[in-house]
Amino acid sequence: MTCDEAQELITALVDHEALDPERSSLEAHLKECARCRFALEEERVLKQAIRGAGQGIRAPSELRDRILSDPRIFPGKSRPVARWQDYVWPIPHLARPAVAVALLLAIALPTFVLLKSKSEPIAIAALETYDLFLRGELPVRGTENSNEIVEQLTRAVGGHFHPMGYDLTAMDLRPVAGLVREIDGRKILVAIYQGKGGTIFCYTFLGSEADAPPNAARFFDASKKMNFYAFSSGGVNAVLHREGEVICILASEMPMEELLALAQSKAKPS
Ligand SMILES: [Zn+2]
Repeated sequence: MTCDEAQELITALVDHEALDPERSSLEAHLKECARCRFALEEERVLKQAIRGAGQGIRAPSELRDRILSDPRIFPGKSRPVARWQDYVWPIPHLARPAVAVALLLAIALPTFVLLKSKSEPIAIAALETYDLFLRGELPVRGTENSNEIVEQLTRAVGGHFHPMGYDLTAMDLRPVAGLVREIDGRKILVAIYQGKGGTIFCYTFLGSEADAPPNAARFFDASKKMNFYAFSSGGVNAVLHREGEVICILASEMPMEELLALAQSKAKPS
């Protein structure tokens, strides 16, 4: 058996589809030929990788449709749903792993990115407003009247819940603006405080403690019997706590210990 003939049969052997007498002569050839043994090993590893990667990964149906209906990949309208094999097989054996890996990436990467952006905790997504505000890119209607901000924000969510409406004048911080952000279909009230003491954002929205990022550090306040979750994103510190169905996040560039102490002092056990 020549190497070329062996290469033809290696896939069948890996798939347990090789039959005698080809199977026996292939095995005899493999004993003699290191190059084909390597090719066999490569094929096995690849098959395993594809099987492993395939479990748990499912390309979004829209992406699958796009790939399957792309004429550059599957030319000809007579075979709109070509099998993968039809595409991979005509390619010379040695190029196959590369093509398969490229295809895997084409499916797996967008899936991963989609999942990632979708599962980004709402708390992290909310913090983006902090950065936008400091860069002056957030369209906010400023006001110095904290009651007005609370009223505006409450009206924006049809009175279903209220912003925390903290008084932070003791820290030399005054309310300067309020706005409503919608993330993943949930309305988030944002009250912005500024002054000599720096900047503090107070986010309020309906949610649960599961809205804390998974990597947040949890602190239990024994006297209030409440959990506080501390996390940072892009240089902004944040502390999340729950009052009933309402989640509150305080965000600031001030040190985490101070922010945590502030959140603990303002939090009301529900
Ligand atoms: Zn060989």
